[in-house]
Amino acid sequence: MASDMQREEIRSWVNKDALSKALEVGMHGAPEIKHDEKMHYLGEFRERVIRLLTKEQVTEPGVYPEILESLKDQRAAQLVISGDINYRSVEKYRSLADKIGKTCTVVRDPDMIGNTGLVVVSDDAVDIADITVPDRKTKLGRLGVQTALVNAAGENVCDKCYKKITEADPGEAINYRKLTLADRFWGGHCPACEGKHR
Ligand SMILES: [Zn+2]
Repeated sequence: MASDMQREEIRSWVNKDALSKALEVGMHGAPEIKHDEKMHYLGEFRERVIRLLTKEQVTEPGVYPEILESLKDQRAAQLVISGDINYRSVEKYRSLADKIGKTCTVVRDPDMIGNTGLVVVSDDAVDIADITVPDRKTKLGRLGVQTALVNAAGENVCDKCYKKITEADPGEAINYRKLTLADRFWGGHCPACEGKHR
């Protein structure tokens, strides 16, 4: 008697499982196609990606303010970084994720395809059409910021250069600090203008 009931339960579970599997395939496409797609996005579903940086962008000086902004997005669940990225650049973005309280995962898989350096992803489909971020140098150059100042990200700059970069893009404040009086006393100079403003 008991075993009959158990058998019945098992049968319905098996059937239900087959049905939900069929539904899943219908909704999200065949699993093997999804697997290939995921290899372009560090193992994540394309539909869950909020923002993406290329490997080159991740290893540039400074961080992309767009990534900080995306991490603050309520839909953002975690930051996923390619294991091909150097330690220093990984740590730059890991500390950004830590600050916002989001998880940071480094993934290594020889089957990965393409040039994706990192992705900010949601736990659900967000279906964002354009997940790319324009190159910092190009974007800031168009706003009249000279390359030396763009490349000084992560360093201490003079007041004038600080004002220039943060007026061009207020989000860039995360990449620069102002030279202090003590810095100047000990011979510190602005790497962006080499003291031309003083
Ligand atoms: Zn300067």
